[in-house]
Amino acid sequence: MDDQIFFHPGVLEERDGSFVQIGRRCNSCGKTSFPASEFCKFCSSEKGETLPLSKIGTLFSFSVTRVPVGPYKPPIISGFIDLPEGTRIFGQIHADVEEVRTGMRLSMETGVIWTEKDGTEVIGYYYVPCAADNGGKTNA
Ligand SMILES: [Zn+2]
Repeated sequence: MDDQIFFHPGVLEERDGSFVQIGRRCNSCGKTSFPASEFCKFCSSEKGETLPLSKIGTLFSFSVTRVPVGPYKPPIISGFIDLPEGTRIFGQIHADVEEVRTGMRLSMETGVIWTEKDGTEVIGYYYVPCAADNGGKTNA
């Protein structure tokens, strides 16, 4: 098996057998940010703690890139996803362009997002549409 690396180490952690994104909740202003950082990006407080974020979010806005960018093949759908914690996350959306619309519910998944020339697989997160018949519940 080829080696695997994370796109951004520290952004994802394994919990109960699957990966979750790790954010930071500020103990001073109460806001949650992603990725977790040493200081609150809203009030600069150092008081805070990391927390696993919800896998289900709502698409706030998106764009479609129709030319290759780095290892990504077009069409590349990227967007901002609002999570219940109040955090807005930027990510790619793996879906048919025609089915993507603002306000839709998306589920975070992890997997190989590209393979380096030496065979190293790069693991990252992306979003997929929630199945219409599951009420938006996560698979976990
Ligand atoms: Zn704060």
